Amino acid sequence: MSFYAIPIARLIEEFEKLPGIGHKTAQRLAFHVLNMPKEKAERLASAIIDAKSKIKYCSICGNLTDLECCTLCSSTNRDSSTICVVEDPKDVAAMERIKEFKGFYHVLHGAISPMEGIGPEDIKIKELLERIKDGDVKEVIIATNPNIEGEATAMYISKLLKPLGIKTTRIAHGIPVGGDLEYADEVTLSKALEGRREI
Ligand SMILES: [Zn+2]
Repeated sequence: MSFYAIPIARLIEEFEKLPGIGHKTAQRLAFHVLNMPKEKAERLASAIIDAKSKIKYCSICGNLTDLECCTLCSSTNRDSSTICVVEDPKDVAAMERIKEFKGFYHVLHGAISPMEGIGPEDIKIKELLERIKDGDVKEVIIATNPNIEGEATAMYISKLLKPLGIKTTRIAHGIPVGGDLEYADEVTLSKALEGRREI
């Protein structure tokens, strides 16, 4: 039973639902918010509401954007012959940080995982194929995470692309197996992209 006033308990409870936030940190954050000037607290609350209401998936690549089509897809100086396939919008950010990839992206929003009942139709593979059919794509770089699900997804996509005559490459394993693309440091990720091999 909480001995806090209900609004405080509620705030702590909400913070605790966030990833990586334990009860102690949730308490600390809640008290931090309570000690904020009213305007600052309102700015925080409105930033959450604003992001939540404005951000959607790009109609082309599936990245997060507040526009119909994200700034990467609407850029005119990127290479339309290459698409880098990632699992999550966070991975687009990770790839963009290394500043080496100049093509376009495709976000799958997940990976094939029979264990969790996630099949190819549950992620954005169909959308990828549609894009490839319409465009002048020559190479698809698969940068799914180096774990069982990421590998299964890479193999599945490469099998679909082979008959279309599209070169399919997989980023190298500089990234630790079982690791997560978004946590890879820039040098590792950059090397993994450089060392990609055809699959
Ligand atoms: Zn986009």
